[in-house]
Amino acid sequence: MAGDPLYGHSPRELQALDRSVVWHPFTQMAEYADPLVVTRAEGNYLIDAEGRRYLDGVSSLWCNLHGHRRPEIDQAVREQLDRVAHTTLLGLGSPPSIELARRLVALAPGDLGHVFYSDDGSTAVEAALKIACQYHRQKPQPEPQRTRFVALEHAYHGDTLGSVSVGGIDLFHATYRPLLVDVARVPSPFCYRCPMGLQRDACHLECADRMDRVVDDLGGEIAALVMEPLVQGAAGMIVHPEGYLRRVRRACDRAGCLLIADEVAVGFGRTGTMFACQQEGVVPDLLCLAKGLTGGYLPLAATLARDHVYQAFLAERAAKRTFFHGHTYTGNALAAAASLASLDIFEQDRVLEALPVKIERLSCALAPLADLAHVGDVRRKGLMVGIELVADCASREPYPYEVAVGDKVCAAVRQRGVILRPLGDVVVLMPPLSITLDEIDLLAGATGDAIREVTES
Ligand SMILES: *Cc1c(COP(=O)(O)O)cnc(C)c1O
Repeated sequence: MAGDPLYGHSPRELQALDRSVVWHPFTQMAEYADPLVVTRAEGNYLIDAEGRRYLDGVSSLWCNLHGHRRPEIDQAVREQLDRVAHTTLLGLGSPPSIELARRLVALAPGDLGHVFYSDDGSTAVEAALKIACQYHRQKPQPEPQRTRFVALEHAYHGDTLGSVSVGGIDLFHATYRPLLVDVARVPSPFCYRCPMGLQRDACHLECADRMDRVVDDLGGEIAALVMEPLVQGAAGMIVHPEGYLRRVRRACDRAGCLLIADEVAVGFGRTGTMFACQQEGVVPDLLCLAKGLTGGYLPLAATLARDHVYQAFLAERAAKRTFFHGHTYTGNALAAAASLASLDIFEQDRVLEALPVKIERLSCALAPLADLAHVGDVRRKGLMVGIELVADCASREPYPYEVAVGDKVCAAVRQRGVILRPLGDVVVLMPPLSITLDEIDLLAGATGDAIREVTES
């Protein structure tokens, strides 16, 4: 079976096994009918066992940056494999994880000078929450009472219990409330469904005033405010109004709490800049990175800490100020090698410099969609897009949950050779940064056709 891409099975057997023995994430298995089994990929396309090709319209769940089978990344992983696949960072170093930390620190804004590795976005957030809590106990003027977190409504920070605690999507998170720590909520600056009942062109960021009040009221109890800068991804690509992130930074400074920026989704060029925080000149105290970190190749995450945070953990062993936290595969060498090759591609291909033209093309290609009968809102920041479908545009009335309109559109777009994955009634487009202008037209065109087919029937 070695070398057989189907591991000794026929395509149909693989589909049957996929239904019976694999429990898929965020998937209702009772309705998992006709699975697409991806066998290979090339550039921006996924290929199934029968050789059909599909444009990877959501970057294999938001993580692929430069396309699949990039020769430079393949090569870097192979070369590292010929040295060693994994050694622990608990007390030992490894060249790729050292070099990657050096490169990340150089790229990150401000004095985010220390890299704590983990494996996924959830664990990057989990580490940040624990670091924040411990920081206040150990800083020069300790404030051990700072144990509360503030988070946004509709937030998504991952699926482990700490990151679920700061999450704010009831469909995903409400079931687990009895297991979670209590978190203070501020409204999400969601302009299409404004929590203050206002219109963006006439408002003065009253949602930020509310955020100020919550943070000021809790003041000395808060360990950190955690948020996804610029775009709340899993909430349905909620694009924040300009200036909101700066207001949050100011509120945290006033309250004396840390700001944790969860850039797991928005990092690595998705919003047009390397990191989303840079667009508002904000330096968070802790910066969480994952998804795009390895170019979408292997699981790896990083929590970057500013100097003042890191310093609070330094003392003689007996003081027990160590950060007692770490995962077995933390800072894996193959994953770090892939990340380094991905960062090289950013430089060699001038990836960020190529983005404005692609973003403009995407914006033009999406324009006709806004006029469709059931498209309530088209939200976009950089190459992140959410198209919210509604039963009625005038009242913004959502479709009933059972209608699964987003799933239907994604099934229809698959017939047109494009893979998408919706967030409820929001059709998400998040192509690899390597998408070409022609592929952008294909992506937007096929999505528009699929929306028309499903919502006008
Ligand atoms: C995906 C995501 C996470 C969780 O990352 P995993 O690698 O799935 O654990 C956390 N935060 C944000 C903003 C995300 O989009």
